[in-house]
Amino acid sequence: MSRPAAKGWCPSALRPMKSGDGLLVRIKPNFGQLNSKQLLVLADCLDHFGNGLLDITSRTNLQIRGVKEQNYSNLILKLQTERLLGTSEKLDRLNVIVSPFIRENSLTWRCANQIYSSVENLPLLPEKFGFCIDCDESRYLSNQSGDIFIERSSGSGLVLRCAGLKKGFSTDESNLTSDVKKIIGWYLEKQNSEETERPMRMRDIVSKNKFPWKTSNELKKPLLEEVTVGSYQGYFVLAAPFGQLKSEHLRKLAAVNQKIQFTINRMLITESLPDKNHGLVNEPHDNRLKMNVCPGAPHCSSATIKTRHLAESLAHQKEFILGGNIHISGCSKGCASPNSKDMCIVGNEGTYDIVEKGYAWDKPVVKCSSQTSVLEHLKEIRS
Ligand code: SF4
Repeated sequence: MSRPAAKGWCPSALRPMKSGDGLLVRIKPNFGQLNSKQLLVLADCLDHFGNGLLDITSRTNLQIRGVKEQNYSNLILKLQTERLLGTSEKLDRLNVIVSPFIRENSLTWRCANQIYSSVENLPLLPEKFGFCIDCDESRYLSNQSGDIFIERSSGSGLVLRCAGLKKGFSTDESNLTSDVKKIIGWYLEKQNSEETERPMRMRDIVSKNKFPWKTSNELKKPLLEEVTVGSYQGYFVLAAPFGQLKSEHLRKLAAVNQKIQFTINRMLITESLPDKNHGLVNEPHDNRLKMNVCPGAPHCSSATIKTRHLAESLAHQKEFILGGNIHISGCSKGCASPNSKDMCIVGNEGTYDIVEKGYAWDKPVVKCSSQTSVLEHLKEIRS
């Protein structure tokens, strides 16, 4: 079965999206970082204007849910006053993922800074269009959802690589923004000649059109790194339980950190750990790390099951019952993961469809009528 088409658009803060529980407002902190004051402001915004919860998206953005329409303009004003949000439509739309453990003035930081600073001189980009800026010795972002990858070359320069291509276009810091603009111009020209309902991603454009510039394989040999929960080079890598933080998590983090970085895999990088009862995932064997879970009911109007409730209950089961990785999806759109999983549990008119080794939109092998029967099914197949 093919993936059902997504409804609505890719939301931002200035272009929120209606969801089952109110407006969904997505903010995109520069460099994925927030300082302690911003964390406290955000915690207050979650409590006053949202439902007290913050989603970390797979592209390191932050989502406030459950915003009532009459409160929306006050929320935006507060975010702008506290410099969690700008006023520019182009900046609001810009998607940038930077490598984890970013240091101020590092090559990744300087390249990202150029993209943020030059956004007003770039054309208005499609909502999903994004940059992955990954110029450290190790590469972390090669598998992330980006359209243009800015990477370090084997010499002292940079490589601009379009998603879908193995080789890139050589450049350097002084020519970065003009070369980015050139590639975007080509992409938009090809995009405009397509008659598609939604803009195509770069990967699809390069598969249909010859890239017009010389590419080189000067890309620094990738030492691909995964980001996993634990301590690393003096930092702590934590995961938000099922990708969601409570306002109290933000306050606890702000109490012991000057700033934190939100990063890939819905994780965060901190300098210090809050007290023992922080409620965040900091053990690599935590069952919650095996699960991708969408907001489900009542937060999304397409959902017919309470995904988080089921996930909490599975998190307390013995590891062998869960088996491998699990995707719990409120409906067959499978927003929480585009990848195949050992098992998907998918809401379908109130029942729990079980897909084995496949995607949320695949044909189920079993239908369970309740959470209890899901658990019984798991125990039966694992015994
Ligand atoms: S997969 Fe989840 S979040 Fe996505 S539309 Fe379905 S219920 Fe909503």
